[in-house]
Amino acid sequence: DGPVIYAITPTFTRPVQKAELTRLSQTFLLVPNFHWIVVEDSPKKTPLVTNFLAQSGLRYTHINAPTPSNYKLGKHDPNWKKPRGVEQRNAALRWIRSNLNESNNGVIFFADDDNTYSRHLFKEVAKVKRVGVWPVGLVGGLMVERPICDKATGKVTGFNAVWKPDRPFPIDMAGFGINLQVILEKKTALFAYDIQSGFQESEILKQVTTRDELEGLADGCTKVYVWHTRTQAPVLNTETILNKKGKSSNDGIE
Ligand code: UDP
Ligand code: MN
Repeated sequence: DGPVIYAITPTFTRPVQKAELTRLSQTFLLVPNFHWIVVEDSPKKTPLVTNFLAQSGLRYTHINAPTPSNYKLGKHDPNWKKPRGVEQRNAALRWIRSNLNESNNGVIFFADDDNTYSRHLFKEVAKVKRVGVWPVGLVGGLMVERPICDKATGKVTGFNAVWKPDRPFPIDMAGFGINLQVILEKKTALFAYDIQSGFQESEILKQVTTRDELEGLADGCTKVYVWHTRTQAPVLNTETILNKKGKSSNDGIE
């Protein structure tokens, strides 16, 4: 049996949330040995996510961890202003450290709820011995942002990143996986708030590995199995008018 793949997904309430979670869950159902750690950015677990997970058919852990108000994005703030997902990813790492141990065989990766995942990604995630990396599509101003790897050995010799190429690890959150044993060994490794925007990946990776230890996967980092897609907020202007009259199109419908 291969390792259990633990996917950590921060998520928050908004009109597209159920659609995003549906799209993700139906990819994850195709993955053997999968365990979804869903962390709501909310003071309480919501009925929507609770019900959603219960009927998902997936093995999961549902937790909630609200982002402290001083770190929450304002309604009109551009999204780079504050880091997103910090509280939630850290809560998941803490859950892993207090509920799993050396006898568990697993790999952890960070699966934001708006990205697009190929089922072929998970064969690569399952190969991670310490820290594995792979290409991510549609990010950093490029069609693909990727490590440059030696195909035969998987050794990483560089990165093609153009956006903030001076990052210690110039890769996206969706572009790496960490073996459970590494997460347990480096027991204080966490994400952090007060760091430069775009440096969250480097923040965690520098605490658990070095560049020359990285394992380049996905056919020598030449295959794209995950895309940093972003969902446009839907236009709900008519709904807003209805709501003002005390009505809504989804009365009694989740
Ligand atoms: N997220 C969250 N709370 C927020 C904003 C975002 O939990 O207030 C989650 C979001 O659902 C996603 C992750 O954090 O799983 C990263 O956010 P986003 O996709 O907006 O980041 P970006 O694509 O801009 O890196
Ligand atoms: Mn995103």
